Amino acid sequence: MENRIDRIKKQLHSASYKLTPQREATVRVLLENEADHLSAEDVYLLVKEKAPEIGLATVYRTLELLTELKVVDKINFGDGVSRYDLRKEGAAHFHHHLVCIECGSVAEIEDDLLEDVEEIVERDFTFKIKDHRLTFHGICSKCQEDEENTNEE
Ligand SMILES: [Zn+2]
Ligand SMILES: [Zn+2]
Ligand SMILES: [Zn+2]
Repeated sequence: MENRIDRIKKQLHSASYKLTPQREATVRVLLENEADHLSAEDVYLLVKEKAPEIGLATVYRTLELLTELKVVDKINFGDGVSRYDLRKEGAAHFHHHLVCIECGSVAEIEDDLLEDVEEIVERDFTFKIKDHRLTFHGICSKCQEDEENTNEE
């Protein structure tokens, strides 16, 4: 975790920003909750536990800055709430998401898997791909199991 904070600090420095204590508290919350897809309010409530003096506006600005610097990606799963998601280190493109339409759980696929598709798009549409968002909507394995169990009863 400290190494990652160091690398994020360098990323900020190279864009002439400082990792202020407020920004660091925000980054720590994102790292500690990496598996979750937190909204700005979620992040704010967690940062407040570490830095009670921090305001929602500061957290918002920090999240926007981190988005601009590509430390995090902003994503919306169709509920109208923007969520902030740490970009996987070394990943050129954003990871994919599996959203369960039954329980709302969100899982991630880190492998890009889209090399063939990207090649076709770049060739047939003369389009240079920089990034993408891919969300699969479906039923997670746990809900599939629950469904089977209910059918058996
Ligand atoms: Zn994610
Ligand atoms: Zn890709
Ligand atoms: Zn589910």
